Amino acid sequence: MSYTKRVDGRAFDELRPMSVKVGVLENALGSCLFQMGKTKVLAGVYGPRQLYPRFLRNPEKGTVRCFYNMYSFSVSDRKRPGPGRREKELSEKIAQALEPAVMLEKFPDAVVDVFVEIIQADAGTRCASICAASTALADAGMPMKDIVSSVAMGKIGDKICADIDKYEEDYEGGATDIPIAFMPRTGEITLLQLDGEISPEDLKKAISVGREKVKEIYEKQKEALTAKYKGDKQ
Ligand code: ADP
Repeated sequence: MSYTKRVDGRAFDELRPMSVKVGVLENALGSCLFQMGKTKVLAGVYGPRQLYPRFLRNPEKGTVRCFYNMYSFSVSDRKRPGPGRREKELSEKIAQALEPAVMLEKFPDAVVDVFVEIIQADAGTRCASICAASTALADAGMPMKDIVSSVAMGKIGDKICADIDKYEEDYEGGATDIPIAFMPRTGEITLLQLDGEISPEDLKKAISVGREKVKEIYEKQKEALTAKYKGDKQ
C-alpha cells in the first residue's frame, strides 16, 4: 500500500524533535534524560564495581548489564508493572548494543549497571534507551571508543521512514520495524533487528538512511555532554 504522507507532517527521513540532558540525577554516577518526540527515557549508571555472584565475573573484561523498565503510565493502556519476557529480552539487547563502545578490558571482574526507565512510550523505546544509556555512560566518565546512537527505522507501506512512532508501527497497510544502532564515528552497527518483511534492497536503504540520521542524534548527545562540562545550564 502506498504511504503518501506521515501523520505528523514529517519528511520520510525526518526525526522527531529531540532533547538530550545529562547529569539529571544526583545519586547516579552518570545519567541522561533523552526525549524523541513523545518517547521519554531516563537512564542512570552505577559502577564499575565488583560483580557478584563471583562465577559471573570475567577476569579478562568487564560486563555491562542493563535493566529496562516501562512505567505503567508510559503507555495508553496501563502496562502491568514489573519486568516480563519483553523487558528481559530488551535489557539484553540494549546491553549488547552498548558493549562494543565501552572499553571493557579496563575493568576486568567488574560490572557496570545501566538502569533505563521508560517514562513515556510512543514507539522506539529500545532505540531511545540505547541513546540515553550510552550518553549516561559517557556522563559517568566510562572509557569509551564512541557514543552509541540509535534510530527506529521502518518500512511503512511502501516507504522507508526514520524514527517511526506508534501510529506508524501499527499502520494497517503494513509496517516493518528495523531498530538500528551505530557507533557513528566509524559507522559500525551495534544493533540491528527486524520485525516484518522487507526486500534486501530496502533493508540496505533503511540501514544507509539510518547511518546518516543517527549523526543528528550523535551531535545532540555530544552537545549535552559538552554543555555539562562547560557548566552551561541545560
Ligand atoms: P519499541 O518500544 O522499541 O518500539 P516494541 O516494538 O516492543 O519496542 O514496542 C513498541 C511500542 O509498543 C512501545 O514503544 C510502546 O509504545 C508500545 N508497547 C510496548 N509494550 C507495551 C505494553 N505492555 N502495553 C502497551 N503498549 C506497549
